[in-house]
Amino acid sequence: MNAMTDAPTRLLINGELRDAQAGATFPTFDPAHGGELAQVAQADARDVDAAVTAARAAFDGPWARTSPAKRARMLNRLAMLLDERTDELAELESRNNGKTKWQCAAEIKVAVSTLELFAGAAQHLYGRSHVVNPSVVSYTLREPVGVVGAIIPWNYPLMMAAWKVAPALATGNTLVLKPASATPLTAIRLGELALEAGIPAGVLNVVPGPGGEVGESIAGHPGIDKVAFTGETGTGRRIAEVAAKTLKRVSLELGGKSPNIVFADADLEAAVIGSLWAIYYSAGQSCEARSRILVEDAAYDAFASAFAEGAKALRVGDPLADDTKVGSLISRAHAEKVREFVRLGLADGGELLAGDELSLADGLDADAFVAPTVIGGVANDSRIAQEEVFGPVVTLTRFSDEKEAIGFANDVRYGLAATVWTADGARGHRVAQRIRSGTVGINTPFVAFPGVPFGGVKESGYGREQSIEAIDLYTETKAVLQGTSAKTVNPFGI
Ligand code: NAD
Repeated sequence: MNAMTDAPTRLLINGELRDAQAGATFPTFDPAHGGELAQVAQADARDVDAAVTAARAAFDGPWARTSPAKRARMLNRLAMLLDERTDELAELESRNNGKTKWQCAAEIKVAVSTLELFAGAAQHLYGRSHVVNPSVVSYTLREPVGVVGAIIPWNYPLMMAAWKVAPALATGNTLVLKPASATPLTAIRLGELALEAGIPAGVLNVVPGPGGEVGESIAGHPGIDKVAFTGETGTGRRIAEVAAKTLKRVSLELGGKSPNIVFADADLEAAVIGSLWAIYYSAGQSCEARSRILVEDAAYDAFASAFAEGAKALRVGDPLADDTKVGSLISRAHAEKVREFVRLGLADGGELLAGDELSLADGLDADAFVAPTVIGGVANDSRIAQEEVFGPVVTLTRFSDEKEAIGFANDVRYGLAATVWTADGARGHRVAQRIRSGTVGINTPFVAFPGVPFGGVKESGYGREQSIEAIDLYTETKAVLQGTSAKTVNPFGI
């Protein structure tokens, strides 16, 4: 199947592909090659309303009557469909996002595993029971929260959708899903495949449109019981404010400025290879990108030169080519923002160790690309070391001992992920305990796997996805109490 000729471009509400009520559309682009990819129906508050009505009807109707075993079967079927369509979906995602197709394919496999993980969990939604006193027994029920509004970013479009859709559906909720305006296509396809998997109409609705209008309509809608958000810290703050008016539950997966700590005793080759992956995967547009490398004095020079060589060797180019390691950024405007950060880092005294050369094949929009960039000699309190750049740019900062490394690692407003490279096992675990973040890797650049809790502390948000902890995000605990006394209980003594 050609991913592009039948790219899905309409809203999905109550099992039907629909135009927006206002008839509006917006363009979505192919950032790497330049040019418009498709016109997509642009939802507004009225379409959100229709989606919420459909989601509520499905929640109270067919979905409420679907057993956990059946939900599990449908989620597994959806996983199978994604697995079978990986190539088509990866091409669609790659064209719409600029990320390499092979990385998109790997992320679709993560989406598949996520659906399978939560399909398994659907039949294990246990409560607990206890004897309160001789005359009362209680037990708890895990109930779905209701209609979930899921708002997702553009950097891992299908995978981020799966991280929310899988646990929400496994626990019996229905959804209104808003993809990022830049990457609406695979989310609509996911909704279509959910129908094909047998998930009833109205259970998963998809409403692309601008964050300010569609996102805020979701966050403030009285018919939505919970908002699950992934995106920038500032947007998350705004969503929490809007959601507070109806006191709906909120979980927030936000930005990061994650440290990558290299001790002098580390296997430097492994640290270099792993650190390249940890920043340049997805052209650095990852929330957990380890964008600050902290290197112990004794290893700094050797690490800096090997790392800069590695960055220069990464092939930047057409995201559809198998040998491309780094594709384009999401847009020209975003690439310009990233270049501005590089200028700022150099003006603040940083030294450019890699990133000044970019040679691209014809047919690519050079303005949307940024070469893997390394800025050495950066002070930990400078703006480039404190703010989320969200591009293929990394800073190197020296430290003199473990205490200083931990201090630098924690001295940011974010707390999403971290990596520690050391040959000293005790030190690895000691440092992991002292870093304030949701995830820490020791001698591994990988921090997000289905089954492992993922989420942040501080201004990286709250809530844990991708693991059994996500069940808490999508369920309410109800306590049921049963009197067991043989005699009438008469507390008033009447
Ligand atoms: P963004 O915050 O600009 O947009 C995210 C989503 O929110 C989009 O769907 C957008 O349309 C919507 N939105 C925008 N304004 C809104 C508003 N006022 N009300 C409601 N919704 C609104 O983020 P982005 O640029 O798409 O994604 C990049 C950001 O996401 C980075 O900061 C990155 O670190 C973060 N991120 C975090 C994680 C994580 O798990 N912690 C994962 C991926 C991305």
